[in-house]
Amino acid sequence: MSLAVLGATGSVGASTLDVVARHPGRFGIFALTAHRAAESLLALCRVHRPRYAVLSGIAPDRELERTFSAAGAELRFGAAALEQVVSDPRCKVVMAAIVGAAGLGATLAAAKAGKRVLLANKEALVMAGPLFMSAARAAGAELLPIDSEHNAVFQCLSGNALKSVARVMLTASGGPFRSVPLETLENVTPDQACAHPNWVMGRKISVDSATMMNKGLEVIEARWLFDVPPERIEVLVHPQSIMHSLVEYIDGSVIAQLSNPDMRVPIAHALGYPERIASGARPLDLVFLKSLSFERLDDRRFPCVQLAYAALRAGGTACAVLNAANEIAVEAFLGGRLPFTAIPRVIRQTLEEVPVREATDLAAVLLADDRAREVASALVMARAA
Ligand code: NAD
Ligand code: MG
Repeated sequence: MSLAVLGATGSVGASTLDVVARHPGRFGIFALTAHRAAESLLALCRVHRPRYAVLSGIAPDRELERTFSAAGAELRFGAAALEQVVSDPRCKVVMAAIVGAAGLGATLAAAKAGKRVLLANKEALVMAGPLFMSAARAAGAELLPIDSEHNAVFQCLSGNALKSVARVMLTASGGPFRSVPLETLENVTPDQACAHPNWVMGRKISVDSATMMNKGLEVIEARWLFDVPPERIEVLVHPQSIMHSLVEYIDGSVIAQLSNPDMRVPIAHALGYPERIASGARPLDLVFLKSLSFERLDDRRFPCVQLAYAALRAGGTACAVLNAANEIAVEAFLGGRLPFTAIPRVIRQTLEEVPVREATDLAAVLLADDRAREVASALVMARAA
């Protein structure tokens, strides 16, 4: 089965290639992509021998082309090349693991080309959920969620009618700041925010986990992926990250999916689907763990989750605005230009300033994304001044 891994040099990309390498002969690698990390991509090409390699953030360069060709890969440049490789009829499965809004174009192209799409890039669904889902449906694309919570929900829904679902409960670890004194949040550093207690991830999603905007984005993702209204999606804090999500049915039954926190579990589930294949994850030892605990979400500590629900209720382009403002605020925080506690304030103000339009087509979504980036960047600058 011929696989393209978008964002191959990232955290999800690495876990994907780890699972693939455990099953020699099962998957052929069609393409591997990275934005600018040429050296890392080259190293991956030497091991995994893709037909194509793409550097989406680099202008054509003859010397690089020759180096990649010596490793057996035809190198392409620029964002348009991402859409070309995922639309190629020889490519059957696409792991969409680019981070942020930058992943929307290629992820949508894979859906429009009717591929099996392993969806890690949650921002695509947050920005353009209804458009993305209808494009996938029209083309007969098969969406398999990679986000651990959504992969869990997907597994818990198996064999049950959507109309019998009472609640979807998305679990959240609470990140590194779940129980630190509130007044210390003002001065936390990017490295502290990225030190997640249970998961090792890219820096953007790590900060999202620390603010819990990650859970807000996941509520929006779940709303579109599973066609469940927002009032039936709840967030449940579960610090051990063992239970990855739960579905409650109208008869009172609750089905949950559990595993050690290791992204190779949902990745192997989606890569093998409908078969089960080995992931390399450690088996779960409940006796060793002894207990699992659950808490209600503290909205005062984590205002981002309510911002996401508000954007979802506002509809139209509001979720695209939320996502763009968050990306700008997180980038500014990682760059030392914005305090951690100002992230939700920048997002809230951007949502207030950018008018909500109907998300009738991709152009409307991209326009809202642009506008929100301008407004949020100005807010960041104004705070720094
Ligand atoms: P990462 O930062 O580790 O990797 C990002 C990848 O995207 C890299 O290969 C990079 O080269 C590429 N990239 C970055 N900017 C790009 C651009 N402008 N254009 C094209 N490619 C670009 O990120 P990650 O942690 O692997 O996360 C990837 C996606 O998966 C995110 O949307 C994240 O929310 C989602 N996700 C990640 C995890 C996790 O455990 N890391 C879990 C659930 C969901
Ligand atoms: Mg998740």
